[in-house]
Amino acid sequence: MRISRFNYDRIGIVKDADVYDITDLFDLKLQWPVPTGDTVIAQLGQVLGRVGDALRDRQPQPLSSVRLESPVANPGKIIGAPVNYHAHIDEANNDPEINKGKTFTTLEAYGLFLKANSSLIGPSDEIQSAFAERRTDHEVELAVVIGRTARHVTVEQALDYVAGYTIGLDMSVRGAEVPSYRKSPDTYSVLGPWLVTPEDIPDPDSLNLSLHVNDELRQEANTRLLILNVRRVIAYASALYTLHPGDVIMTGTPAGVGPVLPGDTLRAYVEKIGTLTVRIADTFAHQTGA
Ligand code: MN
Repeated sequence: MRISRFNYDRIGIVKDADVYDITDLFDLKLQWPVPTGDTVIAQLGQVLGRVGDALRDRQPQPLSSVRLESPVANPGKIIGAPVNYHAHIDEANNDPEINKGKTFTTLEAYGLFLKANSSLIGPSDEIQSAFAERRTDHEVELAVVIGRTARHVTVEQALDYVAGYTIGLDMSVRGAEVPSYRKSPDTYSVLGPWLVTPEDIPDPDSLNLSLHVNDELRQEANTRLLILNVRRVIAYASALYTLHPGDVIMTGTPAGVGPVLPGDTLRAYVEKIGTLTVRIADTFAHQTGA
C-alpha cells in the first residue's frame, strides 16, 4: 500500500493515479507532552488494518492534482549511513572535495550521523542550496521509516519494526565540517513521493535505484550492493539509538554523487516505490559575502 501526505497534512492512500483521503481515521488530538515520534506513523499499522471497505465510500482525488509532501511529517530523527556502498567509498577516497583528507574504510569505522529534522521537505517543495560558492551534492538513497519503538533489535527481527520505505535525498554540502552540519541545512533532506508498506517490498535488499539530474543519469545501483543491508543498518542504529515511529534511516548513497545547480530538476527512482521529482531553487540561502 502507498501512503502519502498531501495538500498540507492530509493523509492518503494512493491507488493507481488516485489518492483517497483517510485523515479522519487517525486520532490527531493534541496531547502534552507530545509522544516521541510521529503520531500518524505510530497509528499507521492499526489504521491500515481496519481501513478495508471504508475506501469504497470515499471519492478519490487525482494524484496529479495534489501537492505531495514528505510522507513523514515529524521524524524524531533522520539517521544517515555515510559510506554504505563500496563504489561510493572508492569515489569518496578519490575526490579530495569529498574526503577532505580522510580515508573512508568501513561504515562501522565511521558510524552513523544525524540530520536535523528541520531539514526535511517533500517533492512539492524546492531544495535551496546553502552556499553560492560551495558544492552541494545529490545523494539518492533508500529510506527506511520505522513503525514501532525499537531498541537493541536483532538483525533477524529488524524488518518487523519497519512502517515502510520511501525515497530519500541526502543533500550534502561538501567540506571539512562534521556531516551533521553539512547535511542539515533547511531543505537538505527530501522524502517522497509516498511511503510503501512492507507487504509490497518483502525484500528491501534487491531494489534498483537511480538518480537523474535533468536528463543526465548520475547514479545507478541496486540495494543488494549495500555493505550493511537494511536489516543490519536497523540493528546497528538501534544498538545506540532508541528508534521511534517515524524515525528515518537513509541507508547510504551509491556512487555517482555530484553537484547540483540552481534550476536543476532531480529525478530519483527506487524500484517498487516510484519516482521522486524535486527542483533546485533559483536562489541560494546564503549569497557570497552574506
Ligand atoms: Mn548519504
